[in-house]
Amino acid sequence: MKKPPLGQNYLINEDIAREIIFQAGISNDQHVLEIGPGKGILTALLLKKAKSLTAIEIDSGLCLALTDSFKAYENFHLIQTDALKYNYNALENQCQVVSNLPYYAATHILKRLIHYREYFTNITVMLQKEVVDRLVAIPGTRDYGSLSVFIQFYCEVERLIEVSKEAFSPKPKIDSSVIKLTPLTTSRVKVDNLKTFFAVVNASFLHKRKMLKNNLTEWGNLFQNQNGTIKLAGINLNRRGETLSIEDFAILSNYIHSCDD
Ligand code: SAM
Repeated sequence: MKKPPLGQNYLINEDIAREIIFQAGISNDQHVLEIGPGKGILTALLLKKAKSLTAIEIDSGLCLALTDSFKAYENFHLIQTDALKYNYNALENQCQVVSNLPYYAATHILKRLIHYREYFTNITVMLQKEVVDRLVAIPGTRDYGSLSVFIQFYCEVERLIEVSKEAFSPKPKIDSSVIKLTPLTTSRVKVDNLKTFFAVVNASFLHKRKMLKNNLTEWGNLFQNQNGTIKLAGINLNRRGETLSIEDFAILSNYIHSCDD
């Protein structure tokens, strides 16, 4: 089957829609942001629960239908635009995000939301199961990688619901999962320079099967040979990136940054 344009696999199971809203924990003093309302299955439920709902939808045909369906709701604000380009600092209030994200852009939209995280109390989104496996992965597991470190550096992550592909129309090839991200108000670890931190993280996972000494060659001049073992900031570089915790990446990058001074 041809992929639906713009990731338009609509949720058709009302029970799952209600469960998502329940798990998101919407209260009537909360402003909510929905990305990709589609035909409005979540929108209809959110409008009854939230103080206000701002929805961002790219498809002009869907926007016309949504405007008509929800014209009775004064607390509904629809913005026809691309969620990948929208400047979320234009939002009038801090929001909770609740969305069933389009697969093709889910990771990019999520990264953009994290960039604007101060505008969100929490972010409950449905996306591909495989992506959620990576978002929640812990060190030493197959799915742990730079995306896991990025998300967990900025947010508390909680996996909420598994959703079968049968719950959508048209039916996608893969299952979905719902995850709740709560932006951290204080950092998990002390990082002296974010650019260096993420450069080290990305380099460490560049070739997943390679040892750190082969992935971190950019900083090879800082390697230390201690009794035949190559180390950097006390970390054994015979290890692979997937065994390092966020704290370990902070130790490495803070050391590298201190050598730049
Ligand atoms: N929320 C609906 C549901 O649960 O049935 C629809 C979800 S569907 C997976 C994704 C929705 O995102 C579609 O309505 C699609 O038109 C919209 N969409 C796709 N790309 C978008 C983008 N870049 N910006 C905003 N909306 C987008």
